[in-house]
Amino acid sequence: MVERWIADRSRAIELSGVRRMFELGRSLKNPVNLSIGQPHFPVPEPVRAAACTAIEAGHNGYTVTQGIPELRDKIRAWLDRAYGHADRDVVITSGTSGALMLALFAVINPGDEVIGFDPYFVGYPPMVALAGGSFVPIDTYPDFQIDVDRVAAAITPRTKAILVNSPTNPTGVVPSAETLAALARLAQTRGVLLISDEIYRLFCYDGPFVSPATLNEATLVVDGFGKAYGLTGWRLGFAHGPKALIEQMQKLQQFTFVCPPSPFQYAALAAWDCDMSAVIADYRRKRDRLVAGLRERYEFVVPGGTFYVFPKAPGGDGLEFVSRAIKHNLLLINGGTFSQRDSHFRISLAADDSTLERGISILSELAAT
Ligand code: PMP
Repeated sequence: MVERWIADRSRAIELSGVRRMFELGRSLKNPVNLSIGQPHFPVPEPVRAAACTAIEAGHNGYTVTQGIPELRDKIRAWLDRAYGHADRDVVITSGTSGALMLALFAVINPGDEVIGFDPYFVGYPPMVALAGGSFVPIDTYPDFQIDVDRVAAAITPRTKAILVNSPTNPTGVVPSAETLAALARLAQTRGVLLISDEIYRLFCYDGPFVSPATLNEATLVVDGFGKAYGLTGWRLGFAHGPKALIEQMQKLQQFTFVCPPSPFQYAALAAWDCDMSAVIADYRRKRDRLVAGLRERYEFVVPGGTFYVFPKAPGGDGLEFVSRAIKHNLLLINGGTFSQRDSHFRISLAADDSTLERGISILSELAAT
C-alpha cells in the first residue's frame, strides 16, 4: 500500500476506544462486560417475526430512499400528536448514525462550528470533522449539566449548529425541561440550528422525556430503533425536522446509503406498536441496584436515563483504572473516549443481573485497593 492513498480526513480519526475495548474483550475468557452500549434484552418476538415475514414476503430489494410510506406515515401521525408542527417531516435512515451523518453533511460548510457538550457520544467529533466542520465542546464537569450562558458565549459567526443529546451518553444525565427550553430559545434567537439526538428517549427513569423540539419548531431530531428495541445491528433510525432540511437529507441518502434496510423497515412497523415499559422498568431497577452498589465507594451523578453510569476514576486516571479493571476481568470504558479529560469511566448496566452483580463486586474490590 502507498501511504498517500490514505486521505487526511480518514487519517485524522482515531479508532474508537469503544471498539478497542470490544477487541480486548474478545481476547479475555468470559469477561464481565459492562462496556458496550447496547441493550441486553432480546428483540421483542413480534418484531423478529415481522422481520422474518418481510424477508419471506420478498421485501428484500431497494425501497424508496426516504423509507417506506407505511413507516413514515406511522411516525408522522405520532409527530402530529406529540408536536403538532405544520412543517415537520420524517426520513428513515440507516441507524441514528446514518441520520447524524446526513444531518451534518446537509448543514455544514467548511469551517462551520458545531457546539456540543463534553462528555459527548464518541461519534460526534469525527462526524463533524468528516463533514468539514469543527466540533466545539463545552465542558460540563463535574455535574454534567448544561450551562446555557456558556453556550451563548461560545456562539460565533461560524456556529452552524448546537448538538444536544438527552438522555446523555455517557453520563446518563437528563437535563431539566427548563434547561432544554432555555437552550431551544437560545438557538432560535441566535439563528443556530438545534440538533437533538434522542436515541435514548425511552430510557428515562425519573420523569417524562422532554424534547427541545417541542420548544423550538426548527429543531432537527435524530432518533433510532436500535436501543429502544434491542436491535442495534439492524441499522435503523430516523430523523424529523423542518421539511426543507429533511429533503436535503433524503437527497444525500439517495447517493450514499441509498435506502435503509428493507425488511427491517417493515419490522419497525411492528416495533413501533410494542410496549417497552416492562423493559424500561427493569432497566430502572438495574440503575437503582448499580447506584446502591457503588454509592459508598464511588463519586458519580445518579443517572436519570440511558443505561450508563459515569463515575470518577479512583486515582483520577480513567485509562489507568480501566486497565486495572481489565486485569480483574472487567471491561469498562475510560472517560477519555468520550471527553477531552480522562478522569472518569463509563459503566453500562445493559447486562443480565448476574453479570451486573459480578461487576459490582469487582468494582468494590477495585475501590478498596
Ligand atoms: N447517538 C448516541 C448518543 C449514541 O449513544 C449512539 C450509539 N451508541 C448513536 C447515536 C448511534 O446509534 P446507531 O447505532 O443507531 O447508529
